[in-house]
Amino acid sequence: MSRTVIRGGLVITAAEEMHADVLVEGEQVVALAATGSDAAGAWTADRLIDATGLYVIPGGVDAHTHMQLPFGGTEASDTFETGTRAAAFGGTTTIVDFAVQSVGSSLRAGLDAWHEKAAGVCAVDYGFHMIMADVNESSLKEMDLLVGEGVTSFKLFMAYPGVFYSDDGKILRAMQHGAANGGLVMMHAENGIAIDVLVAQALAAGHTDPRYHGEVRRELLEAEATHRAIKLAQVAGSPLYVVHVSAASAVAELAKARDEGLPVFGETCPQYLYLSTDNLAEPGFEGAKYVCSTPLRPREHQAALWRGLRTDDLQVVSTDHCPFCFAGQKELGRGDFSKIPNGLPGVENRMDLLHQAVLDGHLTRRRWIEIACAAPARMFGLYPRKGTVAPGADADLVVYDPAAEQTVSAATHHMNVDYSAYEGRRLTGRARTVLSRGTVVVDDGVYLGRPGHGRYQQRTTCQYL
Ligand SMILES: [Zn+2]
Repeated sequence: MSRTVIRGGLVITAAEEMHADVLVEGEQVVALAATGSDAAGAWTADRLIDATGLYVIPGGVDAHTHMQLPFGGTEASDTFETGTRAAAFGGTTTIVDFAVQSVGSSLRAGLDAWHEKAAGVCAVDYGFHMIMADVNESSLKEMDLLVGEGVTSFKLFMAYPGVFYSDDGKILRAMQHGAANGGLVMMHAENGIAIDVLVAQALAAGHTDPRYHGEVRRELLEAEATHRAIKLAQVAGSPLYVVHVSAASAVAELAKARDEGLPVFGETCPQYLYLSTDNLAEPGFEGAKYVCSTPLRPREHQAALWRGLRTDDLQVVSTDHCPFCFAGQKELGRGDFSKIPNGLPGVENRMDLLHQAVLDGHLTRRRWIEIACAAPARMFGLYPRKGTVAPGADADLVVYDPAAEQTVSAATHHMNVDYSAYEGRRLTGRARTVLSRGTVVVDDGVYLGRPGHGRYQQRTTCQYL
């Protein structure tokens, strides 16, 4: 078995920071020992990676991606191959993507289709959540089977009537089922029925520009849906994970529920922390680049999101990576904002944007690792195989240079999309060497991995309860 030693770095996990050497055998971390200690000095290695002056962190776990998602008559532009390669460049070594059940079809058919898209092409490891678009007797029964196969989380939508939408009765039934089988319900919490009324009114009034996407998807309708989801979960006796929280008032709903002791969790995304309705209002049709749902909010909301991350009212930062090219895809919504495909690219940028947040004083280094690696791994049953640096864990490791300067740009990123939501932004910090299960997949900006190295990950039920 090949042995790798990573020497001299500052190992950072969610729990601690230590100057330690890391010994990797085959695909796993087998030991840590203080740098300079006799124990570490005695290790022999086939490969020595010098991490002096650098961090050694767990590979990022991005628990919310949509590779090749069909949406609005087109398809997200990253395949599992291009998207996971971009993830690796950005120091993310596990993604959990969303398999989709179509209305009238089974969970099984959706899951099989997503397995087919991902098999043999991923650069890093991957798992699946299941989107339930059609809650009925038979799909509820299928939930039990999927939990047994390591698909332990189920996303429901209070938005997108006619596509993914479930009414409150369906949501309650899925939550009851999850309470019994251990499946975690993930919620897109926006009142889509009310939003569709406002969309129609806006278009009738001639308000067709991208910025109206943000205006009709009102903050109150996110807060209301978040509140309703919490109460439905309480009635069902189930935990709840709210995806892509963007509104301050929605964070307040989560905080209140958590103060009451309810097992309610929240995720936000870098776009809500760094971008705002100012971007949606960019001149011409530029705002379309920033159309996603929940929408970007006025800048004032960002402080509540950062605070929620610090106080643990929000536990996870994922990307909701769902890229559509500006040319030909976002352009489908010229003259009608409701036809702009919803989603932003970001899988490559998350770890660095959150490291920048450490430098900016929003987060501690350990909290950075917690929200980006450890908490998503625990939330979705991947811990401690993923999300930490410890004996027995997969050797998904990033040698991270906290002083490297970069300017984010579509010209240099690896995502298969023709723009960057963070174009021109200067960040300090970058992954230098990325290992996925002991194999170096990225080194100094060079891709050394291969399609098919990434392996499907069966997940246990939520370990966060
Ligand atoms: Zn999503």
